[in-house]
Amino acid sequence: MRVGIGSDVHTLAEGVPMWCAGLHFPDEPAGLAGHSDGDVAAHAACDALLSAAGLGDLGSNYGTAAPQWAGASGVAFLAETVRRVREAGFEVSNVAIQVIGNRPRLASRRAEAERVLSDAVGAPVSVAATTTDGLGLTGRGEGVAAIATALVHPARG
Ligand code: MG
Repeated sequence: MRVGIGSDVHTLAEGVPMWCAGLHFPDEPAGLAGHSDGDVAAHAACDALLSAAGLGDLGSNYGTAAPQWAGASGVAFLAETVRRVREAGFEVSNVAIQVIGNRPRLASRRAEAERVLSDAVGAPVSVAATTTDGLGLTGRGEGVAAIATALVHPARG
């Protein structure tokens, strides 16, 4: 078994669609700005998976300069990351994600997010959310952060 860790932060920007934990939140006035869809939960999960498999990180795998990944969805990143993890001889045991921020409100859609992300990974993905009591960049509503862990195990011959 190998464990991995990942984190991500994106800026909240008005007029940008909110994508988080594989879901679109159409009623949110601000979304997460970034080279891709800014889905901090999916990106943190990708980094955790790459970390667990010893495959580097999102930057070394995809690079912000790579045009084919501009605007890519977090779920697309996750699916491709799992493909690379499997190619390296591992299967995913599970992934756990915690989203840190005031928005979006994940509680009512947590099961849906877990379903979408688990489908993309092919293993259980759990999603939790927390806030920071008004402190820091997430508490001031400047951005949203996420942290994730992943467990992988060697694939059987
Ligand atoms: Mg990111």
